[in-house]
Amino acid sequence: MGRQAAQPSGRLSDDEFRELVNKARERHSISDIIGRHTQLKKRGGGRDEQVGLCPFHSERTPSFEVNDTKGTYHCWGCGAAGDAITFLVNCEGLSFRAAVETLSGDAFPVISEEERTRRKREIERASASRIALARTIWSRSIRATLDTPAGVYARSRGITIDLPPTVRFVMTPRWYDPETGEAGRDIPAMACALQDVTGAVVGVQCVFLEDGGRRKYSRPRPDGSIGKAKLSFGQIVGSALRLGPVRPHLINCEGPEDGLTLAQRLPDKSVWVTCGTAMLSRVDYPTEVRSVCFAGDNNDAGRLAVTQARDAVIAKGLIPSEAFPPADFKDWNDELRGVRA
Ligand SMILES: [Zn+2]
Repeated sequence: MGRQAAQPSGRLSDDEFRELVNKARERHSISDIIGRHTQLKKRGGGRDEQVGLCPFHSERTPSFEVNDTKGTYHCWGCGAAGDAITFLVNCEGLSFRAAVETLSGDAFPVISEEERTRRKREIERASASRIALARTIWSRSIRATLDTPAGVYARSRGITIDLPPTVRFVMTPRWYDPETGEAGRDIPAMACALQDVTGAVVGVQCVFLEDGGRRKYSRPRPDGSIGKAKLSFGQIVGSALRLGPVRPHLINCEGPEDGLTLAQRLPDKSVWVTCGTAMLSRVDYPTEVRSVCFAGDNNDAGRLAVTQARDAVIAKGLIPSEAFPPADFKDWNDELRGVRA
């Protein structure tokens, strides 16, 4: 991922550039691009996915999934994930610009206009139903006072300020099956509202809890693996948890615990939080926002995410800055609690 990634041509506006990139991305089936590197097989059950051996790590059983409708890939083994552009950049070593040019040319079969429309509609339908689910979860949440597991959890992480209205408590299932409508049983969670650029709630990040909120959820599955404590519902790309209002200057970090830590430490600042390090560079900021300080995690992934986020806001004409916790702490909440790496 080059630093110049977001600056392909000086003559295009942001919108024109985004349009160009989206068009390049939608012209092909991603399986035709990835199929040059690994053999993909359709999965049964009428699902729109293919699987194969991961081109990014060495494996014997396939854990690499490719979805032509979404135009994405994901490896359950090594975590590699992305779209046609990231694949050409990360697997074939192209620059961002060269990847866009390759996709705009005739290197791969081009899909029909009807198929492109079908894929767009399918994505919109799936996205609308994810957002509806997130709104249902959010509508069931209540204030996270100290007598709720969410309040207890925040306190256990050293957060003593009143939690903002965007962080609440909810009893909600950890899993839903979108096809059958089936859902798991209700589990206590700290629910964080993810708002889009207009302020509408389009997603919820849930931190599932145990023991009345004294611990994060960590129950082993039947196969021995541990279920994730943090799960997101709805639209996480572009959205953010707003711990403070829209302001010309924002602090942006990853993870609600870090965000609450910074909000507590800097009460006159507005702190926003994204859902995962990769989302740090994807936030859509309202036009009032002029500058963003990215407060990163003190590790390679955290530093890379901040570099990419800085590039992304520079491309939008915003002023970036960055901050990291002192060297011996992994993140802001560890620093608050005195937990050294
Ligand atoms: Zn892999």
